[in-house]
Amino acid sequence: MRQEGDMGNTELDFTIERLGECHIPSPVKGIRFVDDDGRVLYHSHLQEMKPWLDEGIHPPAMEAAGPREKVFFDPSRIACGIVTCGGICPGLNDVIRSIVLSLCHHYCVQKIYGFRFGYEGLVQRYGHKPLELTADSVAQIHEIGGTILGSSRGPQEPSEMVKTLEDLNVGILFTIGGDGTQRGAQKIAEEATRRGLEISVIGIPKTIDNDISYIQATFGFETAVAEARRATYAAHTEADAARNSISLVKLMGRDSGFIAAYSVLVNSHVNFCLVPEARFTLDGLLRALKERLERRGHAVVVVAEGAGQNLMEATAERDASGNIKYGDIGIFLRDAIRDYFRKASLEINLKYIDPSYIIRSMPANPHDAAFCLLLGQSAVHAGMSGRTNMVVSFWNREFTHVPITLAVSQRKKIDTSSMLWNSVLAVTGQPDMM
Ligand code: ATP
Ligand code: MG
Repeated sequence: MRQEGDMGNTELDFTIERLGECHIPSPVKGIRFVDDDGRVLYHSHLQEMKPWLDEGIHPPAMEAAGPREKVFFDPSRIACGIVTCGGICPGLNDVIRSIVLSLCHHYCVQKIYGFRFGYEGLVQRYGHKPLELTADSVAQIHEIGGTILGSSRGPQEPSEMVKTLEDLNVGILFTIGGDGTQRGAQKIAEEATRRGLEISVIGIPKTIDNDISYIQATFGFETAVAEARRATYAAHTEADAARNSISLVKLMGRDSGFIAAYSVLVNSHVNFCLVPEARFTLDGLLRALKERLERRGHAVVVVAEGAGQNLMEATAERDASGNIKYGDIGIFLRDAIRDYFRKASLEINLKYIDPSYIIRSMPANPHDAAFCLLLGQSAVHAGMSGRTNMVVSFWNREFTHVPITLAVSQRKKIDTSSMLWNSVLAVTGQPDMM
């Protein structure tokens, strides 16, 4: 077969940038090394691969993550750095801990810096002194939510950040954060290359919404769905206990409604699931709600934060990182529902639940804890082998490497013709179009 090809589709170029050849025998003991040629297929259906197979070329595939027999860096000669940016998410401390433990125990790296308050911590004039992380100092941090390093939003100058890395002799920087963080990471990697510095930048994608492309699962999502279930359970219990009762739950999901959709599947008492991907009219929703009340006497509505933005006046406000601030769809719907039934002279009981901050601040559940551990280890192995400008992905049940360019190229969204969305419609019984 000819070399792996992209059929002219540059979107599927999974080539990972490398700082150079690996000549140093890995100090990692007692684990199976991954073959450098190991690849994980991008497609999982034979029909999707057919164009490549018909041409006699390898279908698109991602590099398999894991420890390599030869590494690029001499672990005794470099320091490493970790930074967390953007909003908090369950599992951040687990990932930090896993990176530190792997650097210490697998590679015997002597110096690990925890940069404080996001990219601010990499800019000397802010005066945030980095924490020195050790296996002992991170031993218990997975038991608490949030990030021990702190986080921030807002742009920083790549040249200033790279100067700090150079001054501290950082060979590998681990960037834990969302799309914005990884775009920042890309700029750091590019600036390091421009200055001829051997600095590897490895991203660990953090998105509680699970909305990063070329990554099937992100840490914190499982915990978020498990916690959201408590809210939908309470919502249904409240709704069931009173006459003409509506419970409205707002969940995370700025651009993608995966948390809302899965929350419906884990608690099939939800009657309406509103996500950014499926448009609805206020009138359509209110009429469907009234019909449901007449028929069943109660209703549970789950709304993702980015749903129905077209129904409200755009705010034009932005956060420090330049992300558009969304209107509060939860409050908007709460008031609109109250108004509608008051005008219809129908007495209702409306309960509004917004558990978002409670969910994001939780420590990771067991599944996410294991996932974070393996993500952190994969990131360390990737960095030690001199890979750079990439994120660790989970694809077809394996850990893989994906170039940052691809990961931030577009947002992953619910396909409304998919099994997932059809299952949501089947479980809620809500009209396909409202
Ligand atoms: P969240 O999931 O919370 O949105 P995020 O990583 O996307 O996480 P942001 O606040 O958007 O959070 O970005 C985090 C950091 O990355 C900020 O310091 C921000 O300035 C920086 N950043 C965002 N976008 C870019 C970009 N295009 N280039 C360089 N840096 C960026
Ligand atoms: Mg973001």
